[in-house]
Amino acid sequence: MSVLWNPWHGCHKISPGCANCYVYRGDARHGRDSSCVKKTGDFALPVKRDRQGAFKVPAGELVYTCFTSDFLLKEADEWRKDAWQMMRLRRGLNFLFITKRIERLTDCLPSDWGKGYENVHICCTCENQDRADYRLPVFMRAPIRHKSIICEPLLEGVDLSHDLGGWCEQVVVGGESGENARECRHEWVLGIRRQCVEARVPFRFKQTGALYVKDGKAYRIQRRFQHSQAKAAKLDYDP
Ligand code: SF4
Repeated sequence: MSVLWNPWHGCHKISPGCANCYVYRGDARHGRDSSCVKKTGDFALPVKRDRQGAFKVPAGELVYTCFTSDFLLKEADEWRKDAWQMMRLRRGLNFLFITKRIERLTDCLPSDWGKGYENVHICCTCENQDRADYRLPVFMRAPIRHKSIICEPLLEGVDLSHDLGGWCEQVVVGGESGENARECRHEWVLGIRRQCVEARVPFRFKQTGALYVKDGKAYRIQRRFQHSQAKAAKLDYDP
C-alpha cells in the first residue's frame, strides 16, 4: 500500500528534465504559479491522528514524498527540519523521494542522520549524460541507506558508467509525458537495461512516455497506455 505526501508545493526548473515539468503543467491549468513554493495543508500528514488517537497513515505504508516539489529545495530548508522529525517519529512508514538536487543533501540532513534513516529511500534523477556525470558521483558517496536512480524523462542514451552493483537498489527508466513530450528511444532504454543486467541491479521500464521511437518509427502513445505499453515490453529485470 502507498500514500502520497506533499508537504510543500512548487519548485524551480533547474535541469533539462524540468522543461515540461508535470507540476508546472498541472498548475498552469488552474492559473497557478508553480515557482511560488508553499507549505501545504497536508504538511503534518504522517503524524495526523484520527478520533481514536491512531495514526491516519497506518504503519507499513510506502509514503511517496514531495511529488509536487523537490524535497531538497532551498525554500524548504526550515520546513524540512519538521519533515525529518516526522520521518524519525514514524519509523514504521517507508518514505521515498526523488531529487534533482542531490548536491544539497549533506547541507540538509538532520544531526542524527548517521548513515541514513533505515526508512528513507532517496532517488536521484539522471535524465541525460551531463546530469548523470554531475549527480552520480555525489549520490554514490552520499550517506543514504536506500538509493535508486531515476532516468525519467530519459532524454538520451546514458552511460551510467559507474559500478552500479552494491549500492544502487534499482534503476527506473521512463519517457516524457504531455503534449510537448520529447522522444524516448527504445535503444536508450535497452542500453540502460544492459548496464543493469551486467551489474545485476534491478531495472524497471516504468512508462514509454508520449513519444516513443522504436526501429526508427515514432509512436504517439496516449497517457493511459504509457505504463501498460512499457510493461508489455517485458524489459523489467530482477536478478
Ligand atoms: S525538480 Fe522536479 S518538480 Fe522541480 S521543476 Fe524540476 S521536474 Fe519539476
